[in-house]
Amino acid sequence: MRADTNRVVIITGGSRGIGRATALKAAAAGFRVVVGYASNEAAANEVVAGIETTNGKAIAVKCDVGNEADILALFKAADEFGPLGALVNNAGIVGPSLRVDQMSTDRIVRMMAVNVTGSILCAREAVKRMSTKHGGTGGVIVNLSSVAAKLGAPNTYVDYAASKGAIDSFTIGLGHEVAAEGIRVAGIRPGLIDTEIHASGGEPDRAQRLAHNVPMKRVGTADEIANAIVWLLSDEASYVTATIIDVSGGR
Ligand code: NAP
Repeated sequence: MRADTNRVVIITGGSRGIGRATALKAAAAGFRVVVGYASNEAAANEVVAGIETTNGKAIAVKCDVGNEADILALFKAADEFGPLGALVNNAGIVGPSLRVDQMSTDRIVRMMAVNVTGSILCAREAVKRMSTKHGGTGGVIVNLSSVAAKLGAPNTYVDYAASKGAIDSFTIGLGHEVAAEGIRVAGIRPGLIDTEIHASGGEPDRAQRLAHNVPMKRVGTADEIANAIVWLLSDEASYVTATIIDVSGGR
């Protein structure tokens, strides 16, 4: 039975992979869901339709988090949908496997713009709406990091790993900054998860190829990450903030 909170959750990159799974589960938990997407409108609309089929509420909004104007438009659309209760900073990109001495400036700048600056700008907009200091009633921010933040991803995408290291620091710092203002901030570090992100980096089989390195000897699913995210969004996690949880099969 759906417990409708009437509160909105914005999920950046909610059209596919972990974001999609989170959107479906957050709707089932009673959130009105804003499904952000970069370009795949059909996938975003499919998520909205899936939520509406189960009597949930959702809208799809195009938002490249590497673009501030898109972020402001995303939050404006969310404001019109209902009171903001949560943000999931899920949108993230990898690049083709390269050593750092082979990386172009454009690649590194784009990596940081999407994975780091985009997440910080979205959090800024969420805090303006949710903080009791600004007249809000509190809320939750969940940031998607990666175990790459700890492993460094040598010879693959050190730039990506560094962007996720920044997300870890941001999660702790912002968590402390707004802890007394009704906002909890937490991170998730997924391990190898079976999504299309690996194909976008040029290696569709990457997760399966590396599965033997995982202590649990298998890749994870988007649902397994979404379960942790939706738990963090819930009151069950009411004393959890300024921390990052590994969901990685022990990796
Ligand atoms: P994915 O399957 O590649 O899906 C990416 C999602 O983000 C899509 O909805 C995509 O939208 C959206 N997106 C891509 N670029 C964007 C941009 N510039 N602005 C806004 N949205 C954008 O990715 P995923 O595997 O679910 O990863 C989700 C998060 O988990 C990322 O932050 C990733 O770094 C992190 N993570 C994933 C893994 C893993 O193994 N999969 C491991 C550790 C951490 P479109 O559909 O419009 O393209």
